[in-house]
Amino acid sequence: MIPAEFEYHKATSIQDAINQLGAHEDSKLLAGGHSLLPMMKLRFAEPPTLIDINGIEELRGIRLEGDTICIGAMTTENELIESEILQQHCPLLVEAARLVADPQVRNRGTIGGDVVHGDPGNDHPAVMLALDATLVLQGPGGERQQPANGFFLGTYWNDLQEHEILVELRVPVIRQGVGHGYSKLKRKTGDYAVAGSPVVVELDGDVCRDIRIALTNVAPMAIRAEAAENVLRGKVIDDALIEQAAAEVIAACDPAEDLRGDIQYKSHMAAEMARRSIRAALQQARG
Ligand SMILES: Cc1cc2nc3c(=O)[nH]c(=O)nc-3n(C[C@H](O)[C@H](O)[C@H](O)COP(=O)(O)OP(=O)(O)OC[C@H]3O[C@@H](n4cnc5c(N)ncnc54)[C@H](O)[C@@H]3O)c2cc1C
Repeated sequence: MIPAEFEYHKATSIQDAINQLGAHEDSKLLAGGHSLLPMMKLRFAEPPTLIDINGIEELRGIRLEGDTICIGAMTTENELIESEILQQHCPLLVEAARLVADPQVRNRGTIGGDVVHGDPGNDHPAVMLALDATLVLQGPGGERQQPANGFFLGTYWNDLQEHEILVELRVPVIRQGVGHGYSKLKRKTGDYAVAGSPVVVELDGDVCRDIRIALTNVAPMAIRAEAAENVLRGKVIDDALIEQAAAEVIAACDPAEDLRGDIQYKSHMAAEMARRSIRAALQQARG
């Protein structure tokens, strides 16, 4: 339980962090440390250098820019929960952050670390997919914007390029006629999901104009259940259609069997989480 020896550097700005990543081979950024340090203690990760980004003020905070909410990568789970901007304009993120781990982890763990880390059990990647978020990434070549859809490529594998930093997450405000839900099954308080499903639905009268159904911890990475979405999009959603969509959710699942359950159990729980979230989202969208 003692990590291998490592060098420690504290970055003073985003550019300084990028430079330091370039200067120290195989170095890792240190955010809240609640995924990285346990992995180092278990010697699953042995980075020779840690670049601490906790002192970079420009990576913190939540602001509203028109119809977009901009969330600094170093914003902690507790700051998400306490944010009046999110409570008013994107309560899905508040709901999801409340379901992450326990109060100690939420006090230090950051949304950026959660999105980038690559653990399929992390909640924010699927939430970012459901919200249709955009990731702002900065590296030696400058800044680029990457839709969340397409960023997650596998377990501990995403589209983050060498020496790049996730700077900010941008999510649209939840408008009139849009509803959301996040259902997460966990064995006990503080645990990762057995299965989870954030859903965002947009109604045009009674008709589903658009829907995004995402899934947590039932595939190598967070995924969208697109076949399930296609069952519901453009229709007046009723119980029979929700059952058809649930069957598509099961078909989309590819979970690893572990102490949280076998493949069949996890897939069926994902479908149940999706059913609940779809119903909650519809209720909210109808006002
Ligand atoms: C007991 C326990 C229970 C947990 N339960 C849950 C849970 O239910 N749901 C959940 O979602 N998570 C859970 N977690 C994980 C927790 O939310 C972590 O805090 C999170 O996964 C990582 O965020 P961090 O800020 O701690 O990142 P760190 O651990 O510091 O970093 C994680 C990885 O991301 C990289 N990184 C961090 N920030 C950036 C950045 N801005 N740009 C580029 N790379 C970056 C780091 O280099 C590292 O590789 C749990 C953790 C523990 C210890």
